Amino acid sequence: MKCDTCGGNFDNRDVTYRIELGGRLIVVENVPARVCGQCGETYFSGPTVERIQKTAWEQQSPSRIIETAVFDFANT
Ligand SMILES: [Zn+2]
Repeated sequence: MKCDTCGGNFDNRDVTYRIELGGRLIVVENVPARVCGQCGETYFSGPTVERIQKTAWEQQSPSRIIETAVFDFANT
């Protein structure tokens, strides 16, 4: 399978997935993904996306808690 965006080849890689839910940033580390070697486009399989969403909604016992710096672009 080739990248839809640029036609490049994919590598299987573990990536960090970030989503915001109710004003809280949720980070899921080591998510298996296919990443385009040329443009960096990242694709997740259906079951992987479902598992990320389930994890984000349930938010039970995270591996660790991190502090996150938030900037307003207008103030930078
Ligand atoms: Zn690509």
